[in-house]
Amino acid sequence: MTEAAAHVLVVEDETAIAETVLYALRSEGYAATHCLLGGQALQHLQAHRVDLVMLDVGLPDLGGFEVCRRLRALPGPAGQVPVIFLTARSEEIDRVLGLELGADDYVTKPFSPRELVARVRARLRRSASVATTVVADEKGQQHGAFRIDPESHRIHYAGRVLDLTRYEYALLAALLQRPGAILSRNQLMDRGWDATSDSADRTVDTHIKTLRAKLRAAGAQDDPIRTHRGLGYALEV
Ligand code: CA
Repeated sequence: MTEAAAHVLVVEDETAIAETVLYALRSEGYAATHCLLGGQALQHLQAHRVDLVMLDVGLPDLGGFEVCRRLRALPGPAGQVPVIFLTARSEEIDRVLGLELGADDYVTKPFSPRELVARVRARLRRSASVATTVVADEKGQQHGAFRIDPESHRIHYAGRVLDLTRYEYALLAALLQRPGAILSRNQLMDRGWDATSDSADRTVDTHIKTLRAKLRAAGAQDDPIRTHRGLGYALEV
């Protein structure tokens, strides 16, 4: 798949916003289709190949959150398609992340068309690299320099086994499940901590800090864990 041929589905009920988005995408060589309503978008996704969905949160029929939830339940590649939310208010971002909808990114209105296209490009590049680098075999899955072996609970970085605590392992494994997607502290905590965990251990930030130090020691040049201030963390592979 070349980036220029990628197909973006824009789901937005405000025509003026949709036209801006479509124009910005098409002038960069992307194929872009517009749906006014969530229901239409779900039908389109079942019938056509789509590489990325730009999804407005405030839609008059289903609403963006519900569309995303239903989309994730679709079988095959349609259920895995990356979703970038278009949000009108910053409070919506917390919901985008908090509901665990599997959003990959978000853009807050008003947005600059250039920023929006940059996000689309970054997300598509990431899908392309995941598609080419994820090799699953009996020894686990490769994501860029990371290799995870869920059976032995081991993660390798650049060929070296990382010596991780169970919390560090849980955090890194959760981030590796969806490279590039932002996970909130609560989401990370849900994956790594059981209800009986000592509250002193329930500090995601502390474990992220030690995890970063171990990645540095293993030879990571740029910090692969990105902090999204006030939101959470994402892993770049
Ligand atoms: Ca709207």
